[in-house]
Amino acid sequence: MIEVRNLSKVFADGTRALSEVSVSIPKGDFVAIIGLSGAGKSTFLRTLNRLVEPTAGEVWVGGVEVTRLSRKELQAFRRKVGFIFQQFNLVQRLTVLDNVLHGRLGYLPTWRGLLGLYREEDTAIALEQIKRVGLQGKERARADQLSGGQQQRVAIARALAQEPELILADEPMASLDPRLSDVILGILKEYNEEKGVTVLVNIHVLELARRYARRILAFNKGRLVFDGPVEALTPEV
Ligand code: ADP
Ligand code: ADP
Repeated sequence: MIEVRNLSKVFADGTRALSEVSVSIPKGDFVAIIGLSGAGKSTFLRTLNRLVEPTAGEVWVGGVEVTRLSRKELQAFRRKVGFIFQQFNLVQRLTVLDNVLHGRLGYLPTWRGLLGLYREEDTAIALEQIKRVGLQGKERARADQLSGGQQQRVAIARALAQEPELILADEPMASLDPRLSDVILGILKEYNEEKGVTVLVNIHVLELARRYARRILAFNKGRLVFDGPVEALTPEV
């Protein structure tokens, strides 16, 4: 599913965030990426859909060489990748339903909504994902009326409504009460098991990574220092 070869990233200011990372991840895996702050986790995740442009190396996802896609092809590719941000990245003035439709349609749906121009199928899928994340009844609430935990659930519903082939989640619970980590990871795990969709999630709490992931990638100073099943991770790592 994912093939990364000799991936490196040096930012414009000279910061080396990734050094010669190579990894392959089969379809359907649930992977936790761990490492200290600044280790390169977020940069790694972002190079997979080119939110960060790699300096060198290749990224293949589902047989597509992501690193060679044109702007237009990249847009189409990103429609199949659900990305979940630490800071949710919702459109605050829009409703829950509109935010989730935004993920599915790829454009802000407000005026179409006002005109009743959504396709029923799109709305049905959006509502199904809102229900999956436990926000039924909140469809018409504005994003800015929700708690952080609720906003992150909207962001997950938005990603799932894309019917993604791959889900990338960049510390999705980092700005939430730790008690919400299980809710967020539980939703991702359930989706992974039900649909066989590959999930990569940055987690800085090792104990959570152990509990949810099948496989762990550990980064240290931009290098991949561990790649294996959760069971192979010794307590010292
Ligand atoms: P992590 O997600 O593990 O905390 P990051 O991938 O965010 O690590 O960062 C890796 C390194 O790259 C850090 O030293 C960070 O400061 C640096 N970095 C991240 N983004 C940028 C950027 N846009 N420009 C310069 N340096 C960056
Ligand atoms: P994270 O918590 O994921 O490590 P940060 O707070 O380090 O995120 O970074 C937030 C944003 O700032 C990201 O978009 C990242 O790319 C950027 N960034 C991080 N470090 C630097 C840096 N040294 N110079 C410029 N931008 C940076």
